[in-house]
Amino acid sequence: MISDALERLYDELPSGVKLVAVSKFHPLSAILEAYAAGQRFFGENRPQEFAAKAVQLPQDIEWHFLGHLQTNKLKLVLPYASLVESVDSTRLLDAIDSWAVQAGKKVRVLLEVHIGAEETKQGFAPDEIQGILANALKWPGIVFCGLMGMASHTDDEERIRADFACIRQLFSSCRDSFPGLGDFRELSIGMSDDWRIAIEYGATIVRIGTAIFGRREY
Ligand SMILES: *Cc1c(COP(=O)(O)O)cnc(C)c1O
Repeated sequence: MISDALERLYDELPSGVKLVAVSKFHPLSAILEAYAAGQRFFGENRPQEFAAKAVQLPQDIEWHFLGHLQTNKLKLVLPYASLVESVDSTRLLDAIDSWAVQAGKKVRVLLEVHIGAEETKQGFAPDEIQGILANALKWPGIVFCGLMGMASHTDDEERIRADFACIRQLFSSCRDSFPGLGDFRELSIGMSDDWRIAIEYGATIVRIGTAIFGRREY
């Protein structure tokens, strides 16, 4: 049961940590079941599906976008996203900024960091992040809210810890270097299999799908 799974998670999660229920590939009915149990933060990773769900579901849901975003898909995502967790290139930052300036809005984003995981190439290299934040004023339509990362897909807990330690360290040094970026507060790490470890490394957002909704049918 979705509501039981949520209850167990909330029993264990420290109170300051935001749980984003990752509902990709799951039907509206599953999201509504979680909503009825009180869940308000949901995450999706495909623009079309994201937009379709956002327009049909209750308006007080806070939607996070967490997949690869192509610049020609911004219209599907930016009107509905309270946070874009997966900004992975300066080209995308430029495009989001143009959209935001034109729309007279600010778009809240996390920079996705490529940690560990050889199999995914998505995300900035850790040493690119400071350079972007140093130039934050170049993107007036963007609010830099923190970092997102995925640990290596492995059973090797030491490897997962090393990945989280790396992004945690980067997050702390960014906060120290750029105290003027007052919204730079979120560290989004941790999924169904590794969120407990992520909490130890200072996660402020965990993104959990399978442990709430069950396995996805692709
Ligand atoms: C699918 C996805 C998740 C959730 O993964 P689970 O293992 O099902 O919890 C978290 N973050 C991102 C970026 C995802 O694409």
